[in-house]
Amino acid sequence: MSCEICGLNPAEYKCRVCGRRVCREDYIAERGVCTVCEATLCEVCKRGLSLATCIVCGRHCCEDCLVKVSQLEYMCVECFKRAREVVSR
Ligand SMILES: [Zn+2]
Ligand SMILES: [Zn+2]
Ligand SMILES: [Zn+2]
Ligand SMILES: [Zn+2]
Repeated sequence: MSCEICGLNPAEYKCRVCGRRVCREDYIAERGVCTVCEATLCEVCKRGLSLATCIVCGRHCCEDCLVKVSQLEYMCVECFKRAREVVSR
């Protein structure tokens, strides 16, 4: 069976998010996910699926790592914390 992403190399791993069988080059071993899913994962906790991007750092974040700052804008928890510290100082 060949990799479901590139279709060239033999599949050696299985992505824990989408279940695709992928080759070594399309797999991120330390996270257990394929390269396609890696792009959809939260860049803060690396666990949840990203829903929106932080308006400050531009990282993709999941629901747990986002703070809604206006109708359409979100900040990640890290930038939100930093912004609050600046204000309170
Ligand atoms: Zn591949
Ligand atoms: Zn995947
Ligand atoms: Zn997260
Ligand atoms: Zn941020």
